[in-house]
This record gives sequence, C-alpha cells and structure tokens, in this order.
Amino acid sequence: MDKERKLIIAGNWKMNKTVAESLDLASGLVRELKDVKEVDIAICPPFTALSEVSKAVIDSNIRLGAQNMSQNGYGAHTGEIAAGMLKEFSTKYVILGHSERREYQRESDELIAAKAKAAHEAGLKPIVCVGEQLEEREAGKTEDIVGTQVRGSLAGLTTEEMLGTVIAYEPVWAIGTGKTATAGQAQEVHAFIRNLLAELFDADTAKAVRIQYGGSVKPDNARELMSQPDVDGALVGGASLDVRNFSELIKNSI
Ligand code: PEP
Repeated sequence: MDKERKLIIAGNWKMNKTVAESLDLASGLVRELKDVKEVDIAICPPFTALSEVSKAVIDSNIRLGAQNMSQNGYGAHTGEIAAGMLKEFSTKYVILGHSERREYQRESDELIAAKAKAAHEAGLKPIVCVGEQLEEREAGKTEDIVGTQVRGSLAGLTTEEMLGTVIAYEPVWAIGTGKTATAGQAQEVHAFIRNLLAELFDADTAKAVRIQYGGSVKPDNARELMSQPDVDGALVGGASLDVRNFSELIKNSI
C-alpha cells in the first residue's frame, strides 16, 4: 500500500500476560515479523514484563512501548513509574490518555498534556489517545469532544515535540466491543484531527504527524482501515495478544 506517512502499528497488551507469557508472545512476533520493513511496529507489555521483553526484541524491528507513566520525575510518588525508568529498558513509546485511564483513573486532558511534555523531556514518544463515547457520537458531538481532547492533551508541546508525537483516535464505543468504526467514519475524524493540527501548529506539521485508529482492529478489517488517506496505523488491544492475529493484522495492512 502506498502511504503518505509510514504506518505505525502498536499492540496494547493492557493488564494481560505474565512475564513468561510476554516473552513467548514477544519472541513469536520477532520471528513472524522479522521481514516487515514497511511498518513501524511497537508492543506495549505491562510494566512488569518490560525488562524481559526488552531483551527479546533488542535486535529486532519491534520497538517497546509502555502503557502509562507519571508526569513527575523521580521522587516521592508511591506506586508511580517515571519516564526515566522506562528509558532504562530502551522503551521508545508511551501510551497516554487511553480511554480506560480517562474513565477509571479520571485522567484529564491537563494531566495527559503534562505527561506528554514529561515524556518528550525524557526522550520518549507519546501515543496520545482521544475518542468520543457512543452517546457523544449519537448527539453529534464527536468533533467537539475530540477537538477539546486534542487541544487539551497536546497543550504546551513545541512543534518539534508534536512531530515526535503519535495521536491515536479511538472511539470509545469501538474499544473491545467488536464494533469497528467504518473506514469512512475513521477517515472523517482523522481528517478533522489533521486540520486541527494545522490550526494549532502548522500545515507541514499536520501533514507529518501520524494518526492511528484504534477500536476492534482485526486481521480482516485492517486493510480497509489502513487504506484511508489520513489513517496512518493502528493501536490494537485484543488482537495484539496473540502472535498469529497481530502478525496477520500487520501483514494485511501493508
Ligand atoms: C485499545 O484498547 O486501545 C483497543 C483499541 O482495544 P481493542 O483493539 O481490543 O478494541
């Protein structure tokens, strides 16, 4: 597939996998995906498996991501993980503001923006998630909601930092539900986000930033979604937990 921006497909393992299971999954993916050059591939295991998985992917084309981090540096923040700690395992990406964290941990746009800034300062590339709830879509508020999240969660980033940021558009009603947005629905919101980036930063930055789609992406719907002009990859939950599903999904996207 001829794309304007290189696809980036990341697997969000969420709160799944022991260390041994993580190693199995990571080494299976290294084997299956070793010849893929057309896509930037990342896997985001739980914190507990980062150390071992980093060794399994070290010489491969698979990069490591984390699922969250603190907005604070080292210090008295019990139970938190600093960006510098993630860097110890050659972590490249960090997912921020996933809808589960926005909902269950009450993460605000302001907090997500602080985390995104801290990620860049430590040399990590944030994957910033945005997306509307079903009632919001049905009430015709998708652009209002997504626009507010984009403005708020990216507030304070420099143009250079924005260029090193990935946005994941994940309609909340499509996450883990088996309901995928149609390719047309995804394209519409992706184009809206890109236009907004042009307003907030500039046209060249908007053109270069990669926007992933997330929400029940599977091997059999990946190609149609990835073929949309403003869809530059996927953030994948369920289908990233299995070697065969995730590698087929990636190969079908090319
Ligand atoms: C996600 O949690 O980011 C996600 C997109 O999950 P799923 O692919 O399972 O819908």
